[in-house]
Amino acid sequence: MQIPARKLEIVKEHAIQSFPEECCGLLAGKVELSHDGFYENVIYEVAPCRNVLTWDRQFGFEISWPEICEVESEARSMGYEILGSYHSHTNAEAVPSNHDYENSTPNHSMLILSVKGNLVLQTRCWTRQNGNYFHEERIHVRRW
Ligand SMILES: [Zn+2]
Repeated sequence: MQIPARKLEIVKEHAIQSFPEECCGLLAGKVELSHDGFYENVIYEVAPCRNVLTWDRQFGFEISWPEICEVESEARSMGYEILGSYHSHTNAEAVPSNHDYENSTPNHSMLILSVKGNLVLQTRCWTRQNGNYFHEERIHVRRW
């Protein structure tokens, strides 16, 4: 997946400010053919969302359905679609949990940040493909 450096900064800032709770948000962009012939999720916009879990927000997140719909129609108006999500793991590795796996959408990019205090220790991206297993996606940070 590709993401502009400035948008990744917004995501990291959200993760730090939400600590010790998990933050969450959606990623919008276009599926584009890369120069080496693979389809890639190219992110242009990030939408920080509210973690609506009633309790245990340190250990999980949920984005409300109305907020997902709102972000989706906003993305469409800009010619984008939702291609993934991001969330933080506080005091834990940036590796998908079982819950993340069960709630993942095939071919979407799941960006996970490992946060401790005001430090983002790790940023990793995962995709579930039709084979039903998660594989790690390279994060290509665009400088423009
Ligand atoms: Zn998670």
